[in-house]
Amino acid sequence: MSKFWSPIVQQLTPYVPGEQPKINNLIKLNTNENPYGPSPRVITAIEIETGNSLRLYPDPQSKRLVDTIARYHQLKPEQVFVGNGSDEVLAHTFQALFQQGKPLLFPDITYSFYPVYCKLYGITAKMIPLNDNLEIDVNDYTDANGGIIFPNPNAPTGHGIGLDAIEALLKKNTGSVVVIDEAYIDFGGESAVTLIDQYPNLLVIQTLSKSRSLAGLRVGFAMGNAELIAGLIRVKDSFNSYPLDSLAISGGCAAIEDRTHLEYTRNRIITSRNQLTTELEALGFNIIPSQANFLFVTHPQHDAAQLAAQLREKNIIIRYFNKPRIDQYLRITIGNDTECTALVTALQKIILG
Ligand SMILES: *Cc1c(COP(=O)(O)O)cnc(C)c1O
Repeated sequence: MSKFWSPIVQQLTPYVPGEQPKINNLIKLNTNENPYGPSPRVITAIEIETGNSLRLYPDPQSKRLVDTIARYHQLKPEQVFVGNGSDEVLAHTFQALFQQGKPLLFPDITYSFYPVYCKLYGITAKMIPLNDNLEIDVNDYTDANGGIIFPNPNAPTGHGIGLDAIEALLKKNTGSVVVIDEAYIDFGGESAVTLIDQYPNLLVIQTLSKSRSLAGLRVGFAMGNAELIAGLIRVKDSFNSYPLDSLAISGGCAAIEDRTHLEYTRNRIITSRNQLTTELEALGFNIIPSQANFLFVTHPQHDAAQLAAQLREKNIIIRYFNKPRIDQYLRITIGNDTECTALVTALQKIILG
C-alpha cells in the first residue's frame, strides 16, 4: 500500500498469470500455450512488415485485420472489434457493455480475470456456482443482472456447453449483454458466432493466443452486433488509439488466413488430448471431458498440490489453483508428443513408484 495510490488502486486485487520461468529443459504445461508454434506465414508476414515503415503509426482501426476476421467468420466489418490480446478486449467489454449498477453474473469457477475487471471498473460480481459435475447450467442464470459472462469451453474445467443452451440463455436474457469467451473454441466446441445476427445482445470473444499459437503477439477480438462493437470502439478510442502494432496486424491476418495450419495443429492437439485422457485414467485420475487444449484432473488418492510439487521437481510445470472446490484438481496443458510422454512417465513414477 502507498498513500500515493488512488482509492481505486488501493482496493485492487491484480490477476496473477501462470509463471513464465526462464529455465532450460522445462516442460511447460501451465499456461495453455500451443506447442506447435504459429503458421510459418505469420513469421514471413512479420518479417515483411519490419521492412515497411515502423517509423509510422499503425492503422488505428486495424482495418486489414478486422476485414480478415469478418471474412473468416462471415460477418460484416462493423461486427468485429480487435484488441491487444483478448484480455484487453475483455477489459473494454467490462467497461463498455456491463451495467455498473447491477450485478454481473459469472461462474464461481472460471477465468480468474473476471473478478479482477469487476474491481477495476466498479462492477458487482455475482458468482453462480457450477453444478456438482463442475459444469455450467444456463438455467442457473436467472437473476436480474447487468450482464453475463463465461468462457465456452469453460476454464479451467475444459467443459463446453452446446449452442442450444446458449440460445436458451439468450432468449431468456434479452435485457443485458451476454458475453461468451471462446478462447478455446477451436479445440472442439461449438461457436456462438452463428447466433450473432439473431441476438443483438450477444458478444463473442476469441483470441489468437491458443489455437493459433500466438500468445506472444497479443491479438484478441470480439464479434457481435454493430452497436456493441461501436461501444467497444468508444472505450478503445478513449484509452489507446493504437492497441495493435503493425507487426500484430500483419501477423494476425496471416494467422487467420492459414486455415490448413490451424486444422493440422488442432487435430494433433485433439489426438493427444484423447490419448493423454486414456493414459491418465489408467493411472487412476478422474478427468472432466475436455473440449479445450488442457485437461482438468483429480486423483482420489493423491493430493493435487503435492502432485504439482513432485512434477515440478522433475522439471514439469502444470497449473494448480488453491481455491475452494478445485483445490484437489490440476490443470494440464496438452503439449507435444514428447512432453505428453514425459508427463505420463513422471506421473507413473510418482503414483506407481
Ligand atoms: C487465455 C485466455 C484469455 C486471454 O487470452 P489473450 O488473448 O492471450 O489475452 C481469455 N479468456 C480465457 C478464458 C483464457 O483462457
